[in-house]
Amino acid sequence: MFQIPQEVQKVIHTIEQAGFEAVVVGGPVRDLLRAQTPHDWDIATSARPEQVMKWFHKTIPTGIRHGTVTVLMGNMPLEVTTYRQEAAYQNHRQPTSVAFVSNLEEDLKRRDFTINAMAYRMSGAVVDLFGGQADLERGIIRAVGDARERFEEDALRMLRAVRFACKLDFAIEQQTAAAMQEKAPLLQYISKERIAVELTAALCTAAPQHLLLLPQTGLAAYCLPEFVSWNEADWKNAIERLQQLPAEKTLRLATLFQKAGETPAQCAAAAKKALKSLKLDNHTISNVTAVLIQQIVSFPAADAALKRLARAVGEELLETVLWLHAVENYDGQQVRQWVEDAAWQYQTIKQRGEAVFLQDLALSGEDLKNVGISGKEIGEVLRALLEWVTEHPNDNQKVLLLKRANSLRKAGLK
Ligand code: ATP
Ligand code: MG
Repeated sequence: MFQIPQEVQKVIHTIEQAGFEAVVVGGPVRDLLRAQTPHDWDIATSARPEQVMKWFHKTIPTGIRHGTVTVLMGNMPLEVTTYRQEAAYQNHRQPTSVAFVSNLEEDLKRRDFTINAMAYRMSGAVVDLFGGQADLERGIIRAVGDARERFEEDALRMLRAVRFACKLDFAIEQQTAAAMQEKAPLLQYISKERIAVELTAALCTAAPQHLLLLPQTGLAAYCLPEFVSWNEADWKNAIERLQQLPAEKTLRLATLFQKAGETPAQCAAAAKKALKSLKLDNHTISNVTAVLIQQIVSFPAADAALKRLARAVGEELLETVLWLHAVENYDGQQVRQWVEDAAWQYQTIKQRGEAVFLQDLALSGEDLKNVGISGKEIGEVLRALLEWVTEHPNDNQKVLLLKRANSLRKAGLK
């Protein structure tokens, strides 16, 4: 018997009271069997979405055409999806229409891998029709049914196989792997957005060494064509760096492109092009390029270098840049140590109240106007003063800065 949250129990109970079946399904069952706490609770039911919407106060018709209703139970959003069969697949993609069915078996059959195709009933029974538990124990990702057919139906499943291998540190079962190799070109039919979701998820995992599957199966050519010239050693090199870094999106993406060019600017340009073609959001793309473009700071990083770095990328990305620099120059334990030391160093700079950003200057644009400086010269003088106090923090005093502003002006801002 597993511990199931009250909210989930309540939803299942309500549906059962109305005379229908409801079970926990997919990801959370896999997580429970691995003694992990599920991050979402997906429920499958024989009831129709319209009925589910009637039985609960707070519902959102998240994907009603596909049978999914989100039920808000307390603060917990729960996805309740009607048992379904996918209608004919076209172009190797998930179908746009589905057929609702009344039995769980059909619903489990359309799922991708045996470890994802199990259900859990409140009675305590695990419904495992395809040997998912055995595969979980052995650490194997195996397609449900005929792997070639399943990848022909929806080619994204091949990338999902890589994602789950990376997430769980599992191996891909032989026939499933062979089918991936054969069907890899079908990935070209899948939308860039769906590819990006799985690829980023695969990157941000505990076992990124399984990313080697991408070049090995040929999938890389269709999801990261920028790396066609990479040989196995290049991939291994990138993976080694990924393994040493926290599983954070901007950092892991940047790491992938850290050697994609000869110079930081080339790496940033390569990342921008690849991530744009994957249709990643602009915020992520600009963060990744911002961190890649920074030059390496020497170690131990001078206070002034850290301040300039924080200014260049913003405080929220500072640590990401530090990680990138650390993994480039150190190994093993030293990587984290270097980042911790540099982050601590920056904290103490801030605690001492030293100026890092324009707003930290002891003098404002208004003060400069009062002494007759105007127009774009204001910005130029402020930036020059900030640069000065970056190296000479004790000079961040109004009187001193005004004096300096005057002499800068006289010297024509040199
Ligand atoms: P995670 O914990 O990473 O979210 P998950 O198993 O919940 O893992 P999702 O992508 O959220 O993965 O998908 C939920 C479930 O839906 C899967 O467990 C699987 O049963 C099914 N599924 C999702 N995508 C597909 C697909 N393309 N083909 C077949 N089944 C799929
Ligand atoms: Mg999920």
